[in-house]
Amino acid sequence: MSKVAIQRCQTYEYDLVYSSLINIIENSDFPAVENKRVLLKPNILSDSKPELGITTNPVVVEAMVNIVKSKGAREVLVGDSPGLHTPQFHGKNCGIAAVCERTNATWVNFADNPRTHKVNRKTKLNMARVLDEVDVVISIAKFKTHELMYLTGCVKNMFGTLPGLNKSPCHIKAASREKFAALICDIFKESHCNYGIVDGIIGMEGPGPANGTLRQIGLLIGSSDCFEVDEAMRIIMSYKQDDIPILNEGKRKGLTSLTPTWTLLDPNDLIIKDYRIVDVAKKEGLIKSLLIPFLTRGSDRKKAQKRPTPNFDEKLCIRCKRCIDICPARALSLKNNVVTLEETKCVRCYCCHEMCPVAAITIEKDK
Ligand code: SF4
Ligand code: SF4
Repeated sequence: MSKVAIQRCQTYEYDLVYSSLINIIENSDFPAVENKRVLLKPNILSDSKPELGITTNPVVVEAMVNIVKSKGAREVLVGDSPGLHTPQFHGKNCGIAAVCERTNATWVNFADNPRTHKVNRKTKLNMARVLDEVDVVISIAKFKTHELMYLTGCVKNMFGTLPGLNKSPCHIKAASREKFAALICDIFKESHCNYGIVDGIIGMEGPGPANGTLRQIGLLIGSSDCFEVDEAMRIIMSYKQDDIPILNEGKRKGLTSLTPTWTLLDPNDLIIKDYRIVDVAKKEGLIKSLLIPFLTRGSDRKKAQKRPTPNFDEKLCIRCKRCIDICPARALSLKNNVVTLEETKCVRCYCCHEMCPVAAITIEKDK
């Protein structure tokens, strides 16, 4: 049972964000950082402008750097790795490079010399080496919906510790929602994350995590149990109790008890009934859920392919090829100058949808 602190904060005005975060930290189990090296891991899904609301707002990151420093940290490091990670990436457009310059925090390139981790019995993955070199890890996520995982918060944020395209094979290894959620939990565990903050001052609803619409939420949330921060998000977004695969898997794996103590505000008083959530796939009835593994001969990919395919709007598409480069299944190509999908290869991971800079890719309602 962990303390989860939810604090109102309506704007990105620095002093307000700073004092709100201090209140959160004082009302939750913030780790000791004195004389320690501390890694802050914001969500930089793509290096886009802060006003697009895709990335953790730089004001929240700056306030956290200064708070951690004021508590005596020896060094504060900041880093993330988008799916399409260029060698020179350092968070320039999203404003986080400037935060590092202003605060003397050290920017870490996760793609430099990653280390292979055995995240579970069958899976080895390259993760940012800095995880082995710091004492405290803090996930600073963004309050957003997510087409595949329904919401993305502090736990899913740690997927970014896999540098660039090292993330892609995970969608092939674990194509079903449940298996992907289980793998995210394993990666989260391996990241040894100690604390989570969610920037919910402005959140994203609808087809997140990159192409949804922005919505004023006016909240910051923090806890030493990242699953319980995400549980607060689930409640506020008005998802049902068992809707979120990462929370279900986290509980099943014993990584959280999901019995939070709300020390400031209670999310049950903050539910946004008309929040535009992602349609949750109907749960299989008992008989069907027992039969499906047999009918699909255990094929994770076949199960994933029951989900809807992405649709490409030729008129909106600017032929940047980001979707083609990110696709883990190599299901996309440019034919006659039109992005073309090979449906039988597609594993419905929606990475293409996340990466499209002009919202030319849509996902229809789940079956
Ligand atoms: S086409 Fe899109 S949804 Fe399908 S596998 Fe490729 S990236 Fe994933
Ligand atoms: S990412 Fe979007 S704009 Fe770029 S090629 Fe794909 S569909 Fe077109």
